[in-house]
Amino acid sequence: MIQVIDDLKDALKTLPGIGEKSAQRLALYILSQDKTASNKLGEAILESVKKVNNCNICNMLTDENPCRFCSSIKRNDKQLCIVEHTADVFMLDSTGEFYGKYFVLSNLLSPIDGLGPKDIHIDELLSRINDYEVEEVIIALSPSVEGETTISYIADRLADWSGKISRLSTGIPFGGDLEYSNKITIANALKHRFKMK
Ligand SMILES: [Zn+2]
Repeated sequence: MIQVIDDLKDALKTLPGIGEKSAQRLALYILSQDKTASNKLGEAILESVKKVNNCNICNMLTDENPCRFCSSIKRNDKQLCIVEHTADVFMLDSTGEFYGKYFVLSNLLSPIDGLGPKDIHIDELLSRINDYEVEEVIIALSPSVEGETTISYIADRLADWSGKISRLSTGIPFGGDLEYSNKITIANALKHRFKMK
């Protein structure tokens, strides 16, 4: 193929769920549609990459630092909900069942993929819990092998901490992504969260 198209295809291939064929189809689609639309797409990517960073306190993606959740005085500092992705923050928040603060791990522990404690920002999480004198931690991770490994690891690291730890109740299918579960399921899982410590 033409080098410059190949480069675009390779860049698209780095996106989750996009394989060789999809990347090629998308690259050719971008180049064959009206140039205004493609320019808009390119500008939106450049602009958001420039403006969006991780919040210094909770690690979620934001265009302001600290993010609007961390800087809100209406939210309870003593309750901290731990999630994997920024998308999970929006999902949980849309349920209207949680008024505490969040912490985004960015990854789950997965030794096979080389993802260890540093990749889930464990040190930042532990300082966050101490600095803000958090009283309850709610772990809201996807029920998967990696999710369970991460939940046990966090609970372990917090074994000597005096606060409460709870996790979302079942209802979210094993291997299911929080992001794709429906609002009512998440709201129930949050309401009926069970105590680990
Ligand atoms: Zn924040």
